[in-house]
Amino acid sequence: MPTFAWMKRVIVAVVLCLPGVILPVAARESPAPATPEVQTRESQAAMTPTKAVERLKAGNARFVANAPKKRDWSAKVVATASGQFPFAAVLGCMDSRAPVEIVFDQGIGDIFGIRVAGNVVNDDEVGSLEYAVKVGTKLIVVLGHTGCGAVKGAIDNVQLGNLTGLLAKIHPAVEAAGCNDAKDEACVTKVVEKNVRQSMKEIRDRSPYLAKYLDEGKVGLVGALYDVATGKVTFLTTT
Ligand SMILES: [Zn+2]
Repeated sequence: MPTFAWMKRVIVAVVLCLPGVILPVAARESPAPATPEVQTRESQAAMTPTKAVERLKAGNARFVANAPKKRDWSAKVVATASGQFPFAAVLGCMDSRAPVEIVFDQGIGDIFGIRVAGNVVNDDEVGSLEYAVKVGTKLIVVLGHTGCGAVKGAIDNVQLGNLTGLLAKIHPAVEAAGCNDAKDEACVTKVVEKNVRQSMKEIRDRSPYLAKYLDEGKVGLVGALYDVATGKVTFLTTT
């Protein structure tokens, strides 16, 4: 028959082991609140155009892998309330399948998002980009996407109210692509790429302010294509 002293030793051993069993479970269920990673004046100043591209590529890789960063959105709202220091500005299409923050897996305060059908450029987009650079942004991305309705509309020469003028901005890209079949996916993608490069040229040509930063290498300007079928962003080579 167990003695009282023996039973006491068993009870003590069980009590000592319990924290080792319980704590890991508790830690999994109630993680300590993470410090919100937000862009700061310092992180923005330390950013370079090359690092900014790498960061966006890494973010898109997480998005494609369906493994986005876990974010405490409320904490990010609080942490960015007093200011913003975005490291990149993305000019993308309004297409509901190509939300720039999501496809690059970025959080609140990380990037400026400028979206307009066909990622075309007029004075308003250029002015917005000038502001972005003025406040420290190091990279401008023009992001086109496969299956772009605006590009298809431009190929088909759609006429519709104010949209007619917007699509006219894409017509030179249709000419440059040398094809005009909106039902041909390869043709549409070709025009999309030409249109991205055209927007990049417009940004530089329309803004001596931005051109100076680009020429000095302080700010980068890159084009990219988002594939609505795979979620992957491919950065264009500079040709
Ligand atoms: Zn589009």
